Amino acid sequence: MKTLLTNIFNHDFSGGGDFTEQFFAHELTLADLRKACSVICGSYADIGGQAIPAAIRIKGNGPGAPFAILAQLHGNEPAGLAGILLAMALSGAERLERDIIGIIGNPLAAAQYFDAWEKSPRLRQEKRDAYRCGLADDETLLPDMNRIPEDFLSRPTGDPHIARAQELYHVGKHVMGIVDIHSARGNLVCVTDHKRAADLKCSPIRNILDGLAEAISANASKAARVQTFKTILAPLPNIESHTGIEAGRHESTEAPRLASSFTLSLLHRLGIASAPPLEKKETGIFTRYCVQPRLTYADLKHNDTLSANDRIYLAKACRKVENIPKNSDRVAVRKSNGFYEMQTILEFFVRPAGELEYGICQYEEMEAIAKNQVVAVAVPSGTAFTAPFAFSGIFVSKSGTLYDKDPSVGPWPVAATAIDKIKFCYPCEVGEMKLPI
Ligand SMILES: [Zn+2]
Repeated sequence: MKTLLTNIFNHDFSGGGDFTEQFFAHELTLADLRKACSVICGSYADIGGQAIPAAIRIKGNGPGAPFAILAQLHGNEPAGLAGILLAMALSGAERLERDIIGIIGNPLAAAQYFDAWEKSPRLRQEKRDAYRCGLADDETLLPDMNRIPEDFLSRPTGDPHIARAQELYHVGKHVMGIVDIHSARGNLVCVTDHKRAADLKCSPIRNILDGLAEAISANASKAARVQTFKTILAPLPNIESHTGIEAGRHESTEAPRLASSFTLSLLHRLGIASAPPLEKKETGIFTRYCVQPRLTYADLKHNDTLSANDRIYLAKACRKVENIPKNSDRVAVRKSNGFYEMQTILEFFVRPAGELEYGICQYEEMEAIAKNQVVAVAVPSGTAFTAPFAFSGIFVSKSGTLYDKDPSVGPWPVAATAIDKIKFCYPCEVGEMKLPI
């Protein structure tokens, strides 16, 4: 562990000084996180009479049941490793007051993810999206490690997915708390779970999602009942503190920083870290995103003018060149015959096929959308899809070109016949909230 820290930080945390400043002086890279992952994957943690693979016990000064930091429940979400590295550095600095179990949720997918990254580090993160769950030998997607069958405890352990779920549950029964660190396809930064408001004291993440699990399970098929780790761990009486976060875009440099900063504020609050958090002030004020039931493209307002050959694209209205959204690569123009056509921006500048009407562009996570704002357009009919009410969307429909393996992203463009099946987003009502911290 000490070698790993020296290798990554080029610093000896046992030397004293301002721990928080020393830890956050280094910007953690994917190469750093990969090293942490391989050390943890090669370790076992003894807990409750069982040796749990792909987990590590980080020694603290004091007694009591350990606290767990869960990373990479989804293999392509490496930010949680930064939280585990923080605990290792605290231990090295003698500023960890209780043992921590650092654990990789899905070691198979995590190893596949980093192997793919090492082979082609310049490919964009979407190309590694399949390692969210991992791939079987025949290249098919393995089951999601955060979607666990209800009867997982009585199933045979020959299936690695079930075996890992049982191991994670065993850890859950022997810790006093857990933080589950995720990242997202877009820039989603929020607290997804918190059992106690006080655990968010001095949190660097000030957005709170409310009702996410309920919104997702309301939509799950009834044939295969599944639960998330949150719902599995929530009833355990030993879990005093349970938090979950989305730390931003999977491979952004900000995600490991937010993940470790959140972990420090949490551990400090719990009395587990004696080093202070990065954020010193606490107002108790957070932004609440209340998650509403899923919207499909059919739930958006649109006239009865779709044609069978329509394809529906995410879009923003723009009649002038200067209003084309910065992240647009194409536009939809209205031709003299009334039909619409797609052009790249370059094609449009060289030879416009018609009047500029829409910029085709991805909506960002939590982007505020006004009531009646155009959010998508069908080409060639030109049928506009507008927001039925004001909201900020999460898990917004993503480009099918970038995400060609996972239909749950709500891939666009959408065929006219599929609008009632393809997710547009989970809309959220946004408001301020004050927590009793
Ligand atoms: Zn995740």
